[in-house]
Order: sequence, then C-alpha cells, then structure tokens
Amino acid sequence: MKVDLLLENCRLVTFEGEILEACIAVEQGKIAALSKLGERFQADRRLNVEGKLVLPGVIDCHVHFRDPGKTFKEDFATGSAAAAVGGVTTVFDMPNTNPPTTSLPALKAKMGAAREKSLVDYAFWGGLSEDNLEEAERLAEGGVIGFKVSASRRELEEEAGVFTVPRRTETILALMEAAGRLPLGFHCEDYGFRVFLKGKFEGKGLDALQVYHRLIPGEAEASAAGRVLAAASLTGHPIHLVHVSSRATLGVVHWWRSLGVKVTVETCPHYLLLTREHVEKLGGEAKINPPLKGKEDLEALWEALNRGEVDVVASDHSPHTPEEKADFAQAPPGFCGVETLLPLLLTQALEGRLPLRRLVEVLCWKPAEAFGLWRVKGSLQPGFDADLVVVDTGREWTIRREKLHSKSKVTPWDGWKVKGFPVLTMVRGETVAENGEPVGKPGWGRMVKPWRSR
Ligand SMILES: [Zn+2]
Repeated sequence: MKVDLLLENCRLVTFEGEILEACIAVEQGKIAALSKLGERFQADRRLNVEGKLVLPGVIDCHVHFRDPGKTFKEDFATGSAAAAVGGVTTVFDMPNTNPPTTSLPALKAKMGAAREKSLVDYAFWGGLSEDNLEEAERLAEGGVIGFKVSASRRELEEEAGVFTVPRRTETILALMEAAGRLPLGFHCEDYGFRVFLKGKFEGKGLDALQVYHRLIPGEAEASAAGRVLAAASLTGHPIHLVHVSSRATLGVVHWWRSLGVKVTVETCPHYLLLTREHVEKLGGEAKINPPLKGKEDLEALWEALNRGEVDVVASDHSPHTPEEKADFAQAPPGFCGVETLLPLLLTQALEGRLPLRRLVEVLCWKPAEAFGLWRVKGSLQPGFDADLVVVDTGREWTIRREKLHSKSKVTPWDGWKVKGFPVLTMVRGETVAENGEPVGKPGWGRMVKPWRSR
C-alpha cells in the first residue's frame, strides 16, 4: 500500500485502555491504516517516533480567541499557535467577540478571521438568547457547533464576564426549541445569589477577592443547572454544562442523568488543580468565573472525572492583558489555558491520578462524540482526520509565562512542574508544531461543522 506518510514505532491508547504498538499510515490528510507491519507500506515520507506516545489531537471545546474585536488580547494566529504547541488540533471558539456571534453576518466575519490565520481546525459556538431566537436556524445552517446561551445579547458584549441562565423558564424552553438538534451550552449561574449576597458582604471590611468568592457560591451554579436540566428532561434537548466547578452541581447532574437527561459536563484544569488559596496568592491573575472553590469541590470533581461523570475537560482559554488583570476588583475573569491543557492533565495521568484511557476520553473521544464530529475527529482510526500529538512522556519541564504563544501571558500555571511534552502536533497530516514552536502556514486550519448540519 502506498501512502503519503508513515509514522513508525507509535504507542497508542486503545478503547480498552491498553497500549498498542503500531504504525500510522496517513493518506491525503486522513488515517489510512494502523498496522504492526510498517514494511507493508510504501511511503513518501517516514517518521520514526521511537516508541513515543501518540494521542489523537486534543479537541478544546471552550476557547475565547477574541477575534474579531478584541485582538489586542488574542487573535486566531496567536491563539491557534498556542493550541498547536499544546497538542490541541481543534478549538471551539466562544461567541463573546465583537461583534458577538449572534447572526449569520457575524459568524461569517469570524470565519473570515479564522480562515486566514488559524493553524489548527476550528468550530464556532453561536450565541443565543431571547434577543436573537430568530437567528438560530441561520446560524445552524452556517455550521455552528452548538449554541452558548446567555440571558441577553448584552452579556456577550460586556467585559464583566457575567453569563447567566435566562430568568424565565419559558425562555429556556423556547431556546431549546429554536436550537433544533444542536446542543445548548450553559454557563450556570443563578444571578439571584449575587443580588442578595451583595448587600450581605459589600462594605463589611472584606477585600474585593473575599467578596467576589462569596457572591458566586457553588449553590448558584447548582441552582441554575437544576433549572436547565429540568427543562431538558421535558424536551429531551442535549445540554452541555461549561466549566462545572462545584460538588453541588455534580449532584444535580447525577440525579437528572439517572432520569435519562442528555447532558455533558465540562470542567477545566483549574477546577481540578487550584483552590481559593491559590487565588489569594495570585490575585487578579487567577480571577475566574465561576470562582475557584475549596478542597471538597476539587475532590468531588476528581471522583466524578474518574467515574466518568465529567465528560470533557476544556481550557476556557480567556486571555486578557496583564494590565487588565493587575487589580483584583477591576480584573475581568479568565486566563490563558489552551497551551497548558494537555501537559497539566498528562502530568496527572503519568502520576497515576487519571487512567490514560480517561485522559484520551475527556480530551478527544467525548468532545468529538458530543458535538457531532465523530468519524472525522477525536480518534486515531482509519477514515478519521490525521490529527495527532506525539508526546515525550519522559520529559519533565516547567511552565513559563514568557514561553506561552498567546498574546496574553496571564496564567496561574507559571512555575508549575509538568510531565510529558508535546513534541509534534499534526492537523490533517500536516505538522503545525514541533518541539514547542508553531510551524507551517497560518490559514492551514479549516472550519469543522457538526454532522447535524451536514
Ligand atoms: Zn468561557
């Protein structure tokens, strides 16, 4: 068999969690075959990876690349370079850009920005609220991967990072109807907690950090999640809960799942590895919404992750400038994450806290399956896109903010020691990063659309 490229001496993770030694044959950007017998192939190019681990390229289903509109924080060139270096081959970009992705012309503007600049493949979340219900169908036809819900268009335009679940249940139900077959992504916050708690904590001698963490407790997340999942139980609509941070929410999900509600739970490395104490040390840099919680929540997330009740780990890559993040009270929530997602989780896997099989599941298999990309993305099987990352599991290194490829260098992970280095990243058979640096030409990345709209 004649192919374009043969990767030899790969170690792959099987669905059963075993390690398979094989060659990967790539033809026209797709995986043509997996085989123990490299001699069978006549290849234009052979690449011996010398027994290194080869994973499917990571699908990060939650990034904010700020393009168009806030490109002083990040754009598709720098964001996708950071993704490539970190072993991420597909990103789903969130709709709170300027203009927000709430109409077909806005989606097209974003497609234009990405088409010229992106190194990796990408999909777009549409933004949906009661202000643009009538746009849902056109956005779906335009190929959005799902709809991120907000209470209003204004939430998407403001810098405050406040996203709430629509207050009226009839709105939630109407959004489900409008979304057709596409999943709805919810940032679960019941804003009533903030409204009430503001009076309790502000002006009581607490600093901005202490107030912020008290205003958005885990209960606010769980309360909103409960309303969304109750509505989904009625309609059968698929729900994706972004950046779940609390034990209470996991309990609510567990209950509704047992009644058959279709829901995927996303969490992020910071909710698995950082607590409120880290924010106290790092200040505005580690300000995030929802806020970091305590040890009990962190442990509950790990248990849920290992039990299979957390489906997806994403970065919520949210770059801001260091100036914006300097003062805790004024700082918008969020920090960089797309480049550090895989190394942070891989470290946990190599230290025995997470089976390798689960790592591949939450970073690759599940995001592909949940968003209608299976058979194209997320797995190293014949017929799938040749998106992959070669990892040197023996290499220990330290995350350094100045080495990040994002425009923003704001990260809570500066100085973290990690294990496992992504030495080579390929998108559709083409190298997009090698030894910690992006390579190849911006614009190689293509938009991916879910099967529901194909
Ligand atoms: Zn986000």
